[in-house]
Amino acid sequence: MTTMESLIGLVNRIQRACTVLGDYGGSDSIFSLWEALPSVAVVGGQSSGKSSVLESIVGRDFLPRGSGIVTRRPLVLQLHKTDEGTQEYAEFLHLSKRRFTDFGMVRKEIQEETDRITGKTKQISPVPIHLSIYSPNVVNLTLIDLPGLTKVAVEGQPESIVEDIENMVRSYVEKPNSIILAISPANQDIATSDAIKLAREVDPTGERTFGVLTKLDLMDKGTNALDVIEGRSYRLQHPWVGVVNRSQADINKNTDMVLARRKEREYFATSPDYGHLANRMGSEYLAKLLSKHLETVIRARIPSILSMINKSIDELESELDHLGRPVAVDAGAQLYTILELCRAFNRIFKEHLDGGRAGGDRIYGVFDNQLPAALRKLPFDRHLSLQNVRKVVSEADGYQPHLIAPEQGYRRLIEGSLSYFRGPAEASVDAVHFVLKELVRKSLAETQELKRFPTLQAEIAAACNEALERFRNESKKTTLRLVDMESSYLTVDFFRRLPQEMENTGNPGNPGKPGSTPAGRPGTTPAPAPAMDRYSEGHFRRIGSNVSSYVGMVSETLRNTIPKAVVHCQVKEANTSLLNHFYIQIGKREAKHLSQLLDEDPALMERRHQCAKRLELYKSARDEIDSVAWIR
Ligand code: GDP
Ligand code: MG
Repeated sequence: MTTMESLIGLVNRIQRACTVLGDYGGSDSIFSLWEALPSVAVVGGQSSGKSSVLESIVGRDFLPRGSGIVTRRPLVLQLHKTDEGTQEYAEFLHLSKRRFTDFGMVRKEIQEETDRITGKTKQISPVPIHLSIYSPNVVNLTLIDLPGLTKVAVEGQPESIVEDIENMVRSYVEKPNSIILAISPANQDIATSDAIKLAREVDPTGERTFGVLTKLDLMDKGTNALDVIEGRSYRLQHPWVGVVNRSQADINKNTDMVLARRKEREYFATSPDYGHLANRMGSEYLAKLLSKHLETVIRARIPSILSMINKSIDELESELDHLGRPVAVDAGAQLYTILELCRAFNRIFKEHLDGGRAGGDRIYGVFDNQLPAALRKLPFDRHLSLQNVRKVVSEADGYQPHLIAPEQGYRRLIEGSLSYFRGPAEASVDAVHFVLKELVRKSLAETQELKRFPTLQAEIAAACNEALERFRNESKKTTLRLVDMESSYLTVDFFRRLPQEMENTGNPGNPGKPGSTPAGRPGTTPAPAPAMDRYSEGHFRRIGSNVSSYVGMVSETLRNTIPKAVVHCQVKEANTSLLNHFYIQIGKREAKHLSQLLDEDPALMERRHQCAKRLELYKSARDEIDSVAWIR
């Protein structure tokens, strides 16, 4: 391949890739590779011969023709030169599986594809149709056929069409990368040429405009276009090229391209007016001229295209880093990813518990405030009121009143009191449970890496809550057991140390602390002792007071042991084995289930997919450019 062919082929490949990405210029403000690449746009009034020029550059009949506005969508035509003797074929980007060898079918498909977007109306659309032609008889070129400029809207067209077409055409040719093929018919005054008018507007210096004069054969006898062709009428940087396309009569007779080209060559060779310019006239010369020019332009653009590509690659890489890399496909790597994500979550959770992040202090709050407050509020003063003490002790003795100390009465009063501790014990377990649950929720939300994977996030949440529930049950069992242990075996020494009571002294001066509660609050007013009492009021008061002190001692013990049990069963477990169960389950999962866990948010996946596709395009473009850039 020569340098020129590889350079233009490179542009062709990059442009096609751009279209696959939906990048055909347009309003997108982000960097568009398309806009950086040169292409040739065909511009001219209706019936000036645009399609004919394109066809003769290609050397094939394939463009829809007819009167009125036929081209209603831009046609991006990429010509690829193939080896001599290979078969010619065409391919549409929107039908990439199908090879057209019948160019009549190509024409039909252009018409149908135009209608698919614009409807059967005479509307226009800026969305291009992409057509590639592979042939030994073309040069590598990208050409864009545009709707012809008109002066008035015809029947069935909206009034705005004149302006719409002009705007669309302008949007193509005003880009600095666009090379303008300005088609003007020689049988009209060049001063009235729509093509030249627009070209002058967007390219005042004429450095990217190629003037093409068609229909030289239709000029009035005795006139010629030398003033235009030799640049005296309208000066351009590039030489004007005159062409002779097939007339309508030729088309009707199905005159083929090969014949048409020969006739064109003969026309110039034998023309008395243009004979001296014969080797600088005609469609073939025009094609070579364009190709040569494209090469120069591309070569000049390569450094800036490369730097734009590199900049885009950097941007895309950093966006992809932000979005997270695609998930691995094999089960081993997926398991690894899941475990990594779990560990990231676990790290944050531990920070909440151990310190570094807020939360762990709330557990201490449960032990330091909630539990003591709940213990203080227990209704011992009611339970150990004189009235109740008398009732419980009397009932415990049955028909035979106690002889020395009311052993049974003491036991019943103590057991009754101790059962009150179950409430605060359970409440502490629950309070810590809710703190832990809240910390799990917070930690999940703070694990950035997990945001991508809502399914995994939900499963981790479920696994954590399940584990916390288990810890809670265990903790409840343990703390309640602590309470039960207190009633199972009383501290004998406590009672042995009590002063022995003298029966029937009824000494009100030594009542202990009558009616006091373990917390030392004033008790209820004792009811006056009925006459039938077997013992004095002071006796019962003393019993109540003794039980109250004992309960106070137990309360003190539980205030210390309940937190130990809770930390042991819940906090420590959460800290060391919150996800253990989950890990075991995950290890047993099948590959299919693993990938389900790594299901991502579809919008995010789509964005990553887009980025990755662009990145791939830019990287391959860079490689391709690198591979041709050094050839001279
Ligand atoms: P478009 O509307 O600009 O695409 O113009 P076409 O290529 O469809 O040409 C319009 C008409 O002019 C067709 O009938 C062509 O055969 C005819 N035509 C185009 N160029 C020439 C030419 O150089 N000589 C002659 N005799 N007819 C031409
Ligand atoms: Mg046309």
